[in-house]
Amino acid sequence: MYVSDCISVNEKGHLTIGGCDTASLAEQYGTPAYIFDENEIRTNLRSFKKSIDENYGGNGLVCYASKAFCCKEMHRICKQEGVGIDVVSGGELYTALSVDFPAENIVFHGNNKTYAELEAAVESGVGRIIVDNVYELETLNKIAEKHGKVAGIMFRIKPGIDAHTHEFIMTGQIDSKFGFALETGEAMEAVRLAAGMKNVKLRGLHCHIGSQIFDIDPFELAAKVMLELFKTVKDETGLELEELNLGGGFGIKYLESDCPRPYGDYMNSVAKVVKEHSAKLGLKTPFILIEPGRSIVGAAGITLYTVGAVKEIPNIRTYVSVDGGMSDNPRYALYQSDYEIVCANKANENRTEIVTVAGKCCESGDLIQENTKLQAVEAGDILAVLSTGAYNYSMASNYNRIPRLPVVMVKDGESRIVVKRETYEQVASCDV
Ligand SMILES: *Cc1c(COP(=O)(O)O)cnc(C)c1O
Repeated sequence: MYVSDCISVNEKGHLTIGGCDTASLAEQYGTPAYIFDENEIRTNLRSFKKSIDENYGGNGLVCYASKAFCCKEMHRICKQEGVGIDVVSGGELYTALSVDFPAENIVFHGNNKTYAELEAAVESGVGRIIVDNVYELETLNKIAEKHGKVAGIMFRIKPGIDAHTHEFIMTGQIDSKFGFALETGEAMEAVRLAAGMKNVKLRGLHCHIGSQIFDIDPFELAAKVMLELFKTVKDETGLELEELNLGGGFGIKYLESDCPRPYGDYMNSVAKVVKEHSAKLGLKTPFILIEPGRSIVGAAGITLYTVGAVKEIPNIRTYVSVDGGMSDNPRYALYQSDYEIVCANKANENRTEIVTVAGKCCESGDLIQENTKLQAVEAGDILAVLSTGAYNYSMASNYNRIPRLPVVMVKDGESRIVVKRETYEQVASCDV
């Protein structure tokens, strides 16, 4: 009935998540607040892990892309579930290491890692640093030499695949700031360069073709293109690369009309291509890494707001304003992202109104959704925006000096705080 499986309605007609009444959560923790269902997160992690186990005999690693939602508790859950993580900054790395996340299972991304970030990665023993460019390769080799270490690396490759998604979140084509181009020979050149370096070990190659992708074909095509590069590397240098990282990007349901396939389907289809194509090219099936982010946490999270002013502009539109906005969810302002919204305390009533849900930031573009169906609401009602688990908390800002929201984790009808609500004092704490 709703876009996410962990959402339901109870006998009071209130929306529930993970067995908790959202109106009660709003009262207990205040609004605005992010709520996550722990079981949904664990189920998603397990489904990817299971398919690696089944399709590749366990010869692979699921790395949760922590930029989707990064906090200590999320890293603890990943650690318990036996998956790796992908980080893209010193801050994400720090967060993971602060809960003793095993560094060997950390993958470090980024198109412009700083010297300090590379050094932190080398010192902490990050298993795979995904090298983006030659400048980074040379810098890293020097840092590893200085520390008397050999850094495990993979190269980020642009396989040049159009995954038919929103332009802003498409990263696999040639015009991208990420990675080495295939067709210009840049990728092969980097492989040769790395082969001559003493303090880096090239473990394999990586690609990430985009985000919120529903089709399986682009993933299959990417796997083929990458394996062909493995073959070229072998033919031209004699080096048989061991690992193939196929990135993330699996789509989730934001609206009823979205139809993502079960993740097992993607995994089975791609695994078939990987195994068949490796055999055809005379390569052994590589160790496979995948980096799902949105598909792990997206549908596991919601945001609760309280309705304030309702402003009806005759013949134009009705603005329903809430106590948060682009500071906790910038995705509509950035990408016109779709969301399903429900009045949490009137979830049994029909959604009869067409409204624009606006935030409280001083910015006309601060909207959560335009022309969305909603129950008839008034000041004091609680709104739930569904599927906000990915790229909301992690993309939040202090615009207008609005404190960041707390994160509440629910599980089987119980709830607990995993990130506290920021205070005004904390917002101003770095001011001199
Ligand atoms: C963002 C990103 C991911 C995760 O993408 P999702 O769409 O959230 O699954 C994985 N790998 C890399 C390199 C990324 O940049």
